[in-house]
Amino acid sequence: MAIQSIASILDACAETGTPFWRVLLQEEAAEQNMLDTDVFDKMDMLWQAMLDAADSYEPSRKSVSSLVGGDAEKITAHHAAGESLCGDYTAAVMAHAIAMGESNACMKRIVAAPTAGACGVIPAVLIPLYRDGTPRKTIIESLFVSGGVGEVIAARASIAGASGGCQAEIGAASAMAAAALVHTRSGSAAQICDAAAMALSNLLGLVCDPVAGLVEIPCVKRNVIGAMNAVSCADMALAGITNAIPLDEVIDAMGEVGAAMPPQFRETAKGGLAATPTGQAICRRLTAHDGAAADPAHT
Ligand code: SF4
Repeated sequence: MAIQSIASILDACAETGTPFWRVLLQEEAAEQNMLDTDVFDKMDMLWQAMLDAADSYEPSRKSVSSLVGGDAEKITAHHAAGESLCGDYTAAVMAHAIAMGESNACMKRIVAAPTAGACGVIPAVLIPLYRDGTPRKTIIESLFVSGGVGEVIAARASIAGASGGCQAEIGAASAMAAAALVHTRSGSAAQICDAAAMALSNLLGLVCDPVAGLVEIPCVKRNVIGAMNAVSCADMALAGITNAIPLDEVIDAMGEVGAAMPPQFRETAKGGLAATPTGQAICRRLTAHDGAAADPAHT
């Protein structure tokens, strides 16, 4: 059975002195009846798939609707010209988040972690660190950390926009990414949880409102906010800033908010940005032209 609480992971860490990431690896190995080394290798394959997805980004490619594509390159060029407000790391985070979201919209192969709509958040924060020298082993360990946070969110709340709004997709991804980042800097289990709790808290109430039912607007750019939120929350936790509400309780609050969210804000493309005059006009245009507009988004 999937891990039901962050508290149980923290208890296991405290009782046995096992690192957070290894508790999750051992849990997965026991559940799948696999060797620890095989579970680690499986996660390594997932990481390689994220790297491959990033490498296969095509800046010249547009989605079928033509609504998204090519924006990641603009961020990279802007930064290369010395005009970005960001440092090297955060500029790369933004570019990777957009690139992965665009690749998803262009139907390219991505890793849905935790969902396709939020596929850019975790690789965006980790790939620049990896390219800058963070050991592969550390990155793989951090993916176990993020996987554990995601597993508990899925068990106690939701990771689907149709159930809990975008807070359940981008919010969950952001919490997972923040937790992973803390691990890459050798943060404590408590700091991992504080970072994830802050990240999810910051995105509580975020609605799912994909224009024309396509995972493009606002989804691609929301990957950026999920990633940048993760970076700032990880840094806050590593600086010693704590979160008053424990992560399990933040997750429960997210589940409660999601359940209370009206249907128009849960992937039906009938509320929020999808219901604006321009959002509706885009939908009509796409439907009239080539049927690119979809029924409720598939994430
Ligand atoms: S707006 Fe909806 S479809 Fe788009 S990323 Fe968020 S949850 Fe997914």
